[in-house]
Amino acid sequence: MKGSILVISGPSGSGKSSLMHEMMKRVEDTYFSISTTTRQKRDGETEGKDYFFISKDEFKQGIEEGNFLEWARVHDNYYGTSLKQILKELNAGKTVIFDIDVQGHKIAQEKFGNIITSVFVTTPSQEVLKDRLVQRGTDSAESIQKRLNNAISEMARVKEYDFLLINDYFDKTLESLVSITYASKHKVSSINTQEFISSWVD
Ligand code: 5GP
Repeated sequence: MKGSILVISGPSGSGKSSLMHEMMKRVEDTYFSISTTTRQKRDGETEGKDYFFISKDEFKQGIEEGNFLEWARVHDNYYGTSLKQILKELNAGKTVIFDIDVQGHKIAQEKFGNIITSVFVTTPSQEVLKDRLVQRGTDSAESIQKRLNNAISEMARVKEYDFLLINDYFDKTLESLVSITYASKHKVSSINTQEFISSWVD
């Protein structure tokens, strides 16, 4: 495969989706891996752009049919990465962006280790995360509490990532994410060095 993978994880409300979408406007040859989920669509989300929204039964069937590269249960819902499209994009030399949780990152590492660069995005503190989730206004109090609890356990696994971005000032964090994405394209492990060396020597 000619491409590379950039995994972005972090608590919901850390700003990672906005950062990711802005970064993709600035860096060429990127492809966002659209996950499949059983959770309810939020206001402003679009089917086939943010996620593919399906029922739990359909998701379980997808697992049995081997359609997912990885899948995880997060906040009582299922989330999964479809295998077919990402293999096509990797073969086309794209940088494929995964917005997945810590469990998904671990599985992706096991399957694609050397072509992955990973970034964990979070807020400066738990209070800031709570404020952002409340202000976003898309989650019930119960869902916010689940997301906060999940964030605390995810924070314990930051060490598994290559980079940590503390999203205090959006523009500054975006600049860092753009730099990391460019750098990830030049990792020796994701370049077909043999092909390059042969053509360079001839
Ligand atoms: P949200 O409901 O806020 O969109 O996402 C909740 C969590 O699920 C986030 O941490 C997000 O990164 C994670 N997530 C989204 N898609 C996938 C996926 O395909 N696989 C895994 N493992 N996690 C995902």
